[in-house]
Amino acid sequence: MLNIVLFGPPGAGKGTQSTRLVERYKLVHLSTGDIFRANIKGGTELGVLAKSYMDQGQLVPDEVTIRMLESEASKTPDAPGYIFDGFPRTPAQAEALDRYLNGKETGITMMLALEVEEEELRKRLLLRGKDSGRADDQDPAVVQKRIDVYRNETEPVRDYYMAQNKYTGIDGIGSIDEIFDRLCAAIDGYKA
Ligand code: AMP
Repeated sequence: MLNIVLFGPPGAGKGTQSTRLVERYKLVHLSTGDIFRANIKGGTELGVLAKSYMDQGQLVPDEVTIRMLESEASKTPDAPGYIFDGFPRTPAQAEALDRYLNGKETGITMMLALEVEEEELRKRLLLRGKDSGRADDQDPAVVQKRIDVYRNETEPVRDYYMAQNKYTGIDGIGSIDEIFDRLCAAIDGYKA
């Protein structure tokens, strides 16, 4: 299996690139942010809970997020591999994911980390807020909170995969095509 953690701060381009990677490598896309948003839209209990955190730019608690991710992954037992987008966001989530995949006799192949500096992220997120109407992209205070949460709570996940020699940094500045080519080169280099 080819299991990729697509990592990076909010606004780094994980969603855009995931869509393309899924097509190229025939993987299943698991985005915890997308799943939460679908639950909000559907008015589920999980959606109501998740919204209370998302609106403030905070992380949904690990226990809820991990349970949801595992239940979603178990719907596609024959997947040739996964792209994890926006998950894991804490070391506890990374450990839980390892345990889950190990139980299926597989594991994370690689972490591809999109690198974009903070000023550019702020610009991209506020622009996306105007275009997509995503509530958590519209308020500069919430955008800043998400960037801060990323630095404080999520960045340690990078060290977790670095320690396993699974980390590859990817320059996240450039056109969508250029960044996609960099990601593909990293994946193909690994597979070769
Ligand atoms: P995203 O679409 O990945 O930017 O996620 C939007 C929001 O959903 C985040 O700001 C969090 O509130 C929540 N969220 C998404 N993924 C996770 C996760 N793995 N752990 C906790 N909260 C998450």
